[in-house]
Amino acid sequence: MIRSIRVRLTLAYVSILSVILILSGFVVYSRLAASRYEQLDSRLDLACRVIAASLAHEIEEHSGQEQGEASFRSVLLTVHKLTFPRQAVTVIQGPRTVGLTRDADSHQVPMNALVRAAGLSSDTGAAVGWSDSGWRFSALRITVPKAGAYVFVSGAPETDTMREVVALRQSFLLGVPVAILLSAMGGYWLAKRSLAPVVVIAETVETITSRSLDRRVPVVNPGDELGFLAQTFNRLLERLQDAFEQKRRFMADASHELRTPISIAHTATEVTLEQPHRTEDEYREALLIVDGQLQRLKRLVEDMFLLARADSGAVPLRKSKFYLDELLAETARAARVLGSRKGVSVELAPMKEALCEADESLIRQMVMVLLDNAVKYSSAGGRVAIQLTQDVSHYQIFVKDSGPGIPAGAQARIFDRFYRVDPARSRSMVTAGGAGLGLSIARWVAEAHKGTLTLVESNESGSVFCATFPSGECV
Ligand code: ADP
Repeated sequence: MIRSIRVRLTLAYVSILSVILILSGFVVYSRLAASRYEQLDSRLDLACRVIAASLAHEIEEHSGQEQGEASFRSVLLTVHKLTFPRQAVTVIQGPRTVGLTRDADSHQVPMNALVRAAGLSSDTGAAVGWSDSGWRFSALRITVPKAGAYVFVSGAPETDTMREVVALRQSFLLGVPVAILLSAMGGYWLAKRSLAPVVVIAETVETITSRSLDRRVPVVNPGDELGFLAQTFNRLLERLQDAFEQKRRFMADASHELRTPISIAHTATEVTLEQPHRTEDEYREALLIVDGQLQRLKRLVEDMFLLARADSGAVPLRKSKFYLDELLAETARAARVLGSRKGVSVELAPMKEALCEADESLIRQMVMVLLDNAVKYSSAGGRVAIQLTQDVSHYQIFVKDSGPGIPAGAQARIFDRFYRVDPARSRSMVTAGGAGLGLSIARWVAEAHKGTLTLVESNESGSVFCATFPSGECV
């Protein structure tokens, strides 16, 4: 098995070309050779007819066979000399030779043999053939009025035509292999040249590791197939680079977020243990700090785990039928508890019964993220409003708050993992503990239900988020 595509392409190309060249060479050679012999035969036939006409004419002129034949013999020599000097001619009547050119003398026996072999019995019979000495003969039997039937035989050495045909054959025998050799060389060069970009692509890709994902394959001609291949590789590299960068950032952000509660808990423990004896209240206080940080860690790890599983498609939706309006009423009650601590009211617009088939616990988590944020970022005296609407194909949950709004420059990034506009202000014990994962998870939940989660508007008087579900998910 030949591994090089260059060699295989060249071999295939040369094989096809060889078959075509050999076949067409053979056909052309046979046609040309046949036509050379046809030309020779028609020359010989013409000579016979000219001689026959002059014999008939001489017999007619001299009004007697004997005198006519005698005159014909001298005419024959003149005609032969002037018209067809390279052909020998014999004229026979029965066993009698009526006339012959000098060349024909030496070929008389084969000529007679040919005449016999041709069996020229009919009045206008004709035959062609070869003599033993390599002469081509044409014989014609013609009846001359008042003199009977004559056989005219014209011959010519085959060597002339043969020489041409042999030269033709030699040209083919030499030309075809040379043409095949040249085309093999040309084909190999072309294949090598066309495949050179593939080699460059392979060599470049070979050198790319996870540390050099910013390298790109050179695109020589973007319009051709190899240019398309190189561009496809580059797009793949771009996606890989993005994915690696995302993972790297996630790891860096995650370790940063994990480090904070661990160091707070560690410091609280260390400070408490510095003194050999502490009061019970002091131990309790330290344990409360440690417990708070452990809860934060637990939620963080749970959220990271959920997102990691979501990324790999390993979170199955546990769908069940439930009433969306009831779920919103329950989450609103929970949000009211949070809001009451800082004087933020949570209002639920009147809504119709809304039966839904979805993953209830994930939908609850998503709504809680939106409500927790709405309460968390509203200042005292603020107001959070929840509204459920339904059109032909969707349910829409709107969560509106009277918070400070999200700066225009940050709005596009709030759904990014670990992104926080102001890290110090976003701590909460309800969702991800203010690590910047809440909206990422909420958006994933919406999308996993073939829905969307968007920030509808946000300005200094508040923000409005909208989660939408196709009604195909809900009945
Ligand atoms: P966090 O846990 O920090 O709240 P999120 O992913 O839920 O993380 O939100 C990302 C960032 O978006 C928050 O840090 C906050 O700056 C901003 N944000 C989200 N919701 C609101 C809101 N209702 N009002 C103002 N800012 C918000």
